[in-house]
Amino acid sequence: MYAARRFAVRHARFFERLYNRFEALMVALDPLFARLGYDRLERPVAFIERAIKGFLFDCKMCGQCVLSSTGMACPMNCPKNLRNGPCGGVREDGSCEVRPEMRCVWLEAWEGAARMPRGLERIAIVQPPVDRALAGSSSWLRVAREKAAERRRAMAPPEPTAVSPPERARSTLAKAFRRARRLAPSAAPLAAEPEAALADQAVEETTSVFESPTRQPPHQESGEGRGGENGGGEDRRAKHRGASAP
Ligand code: SF4
Repeated sequence: MYAARRFAVRHARFFERLYNRFEALMVALDPLFARLGYDRLERPVAFIERAIKGFLFDCKMCGQCVLSSTGMACPMNCPKNLRNGPCGGVREDGSCEVRPEMRCVWLEAWEGAARMPRGLERIAIVQPPVDRALAGSSSWLRVAREKAAERRRAMAPPEPTAVSPPERARSTLAKAFRRARRLAPSAAPLAAEPEAALADQAVEETTSVFESPTRQPPHQESGEGRGGENGGGEDRRAKHRGASAP
């Protein structure tokens, strides 16, 4: 088994490719698995997984496989079960401090990762603590199920955003007093305006009373007004002259 384990690390790239194809097949079979029942498939698939991965990687069936992030070296073979790098006890010749007959799992992992296309990137990702509740379960089935669900979510149309009743009420009020808010900025609301009201306001701005093409600027209006009054005064004076002429 130890020899097979080291063989897998030396051919990490090949095993990664093989696994990627296998995973795609498992994800494609999700509808069939769902029909048969994942729970029913758990035991037979876990049995096969244990046999294959046990032989190739000395798999301990932790249920959360990270082989593609650890250069195809199973971290559960570390006597301390470290999943994020070696402890400080690696011997000078690279052997494990607990089991000197074995090379440190993390030295193997680093070498395997260096042979994989993005292996050194992935080995740097911090792994969560191992969940012992998943021990003995099939990683293959779990990954297939999760990835299929993820794909379904990505393909589903986006759900319409629901507006909560208080938000709807605020929007209605804000729309009703839109003109007042614009003309009397000192009466600006304390809270942020609801988005629905702001969107409507953006459209309304184009018809602002200050930009109305039919309305003249105030000074012209007042000039005309004065002109009108002057004109009226001239008219009155003319009438008065006319009335006093013999
Ligand atoms: S990480 Fe877990 S599932 Fe993967 S080979 Fe090691 S013990 Fe097995």
